[in-house]
Amino acid sequence: MERIDGKALAAQVKRQAADQVAVLRQQKIVPKLAVILVGEDPASKVYVGGKAKDCAECNIESDVIQLPAETTQQQLLEQIDTLNRDQSVHGILVQLPLPGHIDEKAVIEAIDPKKDVDGFTPVNVGRMFVGEDCFLPCTPAGCIELIRAAGVEMKGKKAVVIGRSNIVGKPMALLLLRENATVTVCHSKTQDLAAVCREADILVAAIGKDRFVGKDMVKPGAVVIDVGINRGADGKLHGDVDESALSDVAGKITPVPGGVGLMTRAMLMVNTVKACKKLNGMA
Ligand code: NDP
Repeated sequence: MERIDGKALAAQVKRQAADQVAVLRQQKIVPKLAVILVGEDPASKVYVGGKAKDCAECNIESDVIQLPAETTQQQLLEQIDTLNRDQSVHGILVQLPLPGHIDEKAVIEAIDPKKDVDGFTPVNVGRMFVGEDCFLPCTPAGCIELIRAAGVEMKGKKAVVIGRSNIVGKPMALLLLRENATVTVCHSKTQDLAAVCREADILVAAIGKDRFVGKDMVKPGAVVIDVGINRGADGKLHGDVDESALSDVAGKITPVPGGVGLMTRAMLMVNTVKACKKLNGMA
């Protein structure tokens, strides 16, 4: 079994983004990402810190706007409106999840689609659906890049996606379809999940259940993309796939950590540079 090196690919993607930033900066254009964090969720803080670090690496300016947990929805919408109007800001990202009293849908819909570098607004989702130019959601876009970089042909292959969330499962299925794979989407109501998964040449696990995918669910030689990030009882991070059980089954696998998570972050840099170029009439 071969491990697909997300760290190396993410570094390469970020270097390419940095090269583009250098060209923009020569023209006195400075790409900028604004990240809004509401509350004190420790995991969210780590993610936001990672995004700021990636921006620094790519020479993208970043602004982390930390708001208290008791911020009202109206205050958050006003903050987004300010960023929508701020011409120095090219990308806006609201770190999810938001505190329970705030309507996530209303907040996402308030982001200017031209600055929606997460690709979560209905405008971008709709454009993706019909195959128009848009910001692709970072996690599934990163998964496609990982599959491609591993030298795996998607055309004509059977792909199975476990999970149908709006941010991972559904767009993942759509992007695989765009690559001409034959796609099946599974979820918690799927019957005989293991048998469906065993059909897959490419298996994507986006479930949120610690090491849920075992040997009985994987076809020999399959490519397995593990999106899951779960904190195990041992305090360590684990994927949705039990990698150790697949060593003599899977052909290629993305590790956790060191796989999809790093590529998700790298794709955010790609989207931010793209937003900057588009807002400056350059793409
Ligand atoms: P959600 O909880 O929104 O979705 C989980 C999906 O898994 C649902 O569609 C659910 O089905 C399905 N599911 C749950 N249990 C089962 C089961 N027993 N059998 C089959 N399907 C099941 O999660 P997300 O999509 O947001 O995230 C999935 C995982 O990916 C999480 O671990 C998350 O932390 C991680 N993640 C990682 C990212 C990265 O950068 N690497 C980015 C985003 C997420 P149903 O719809 O029927 O409920």
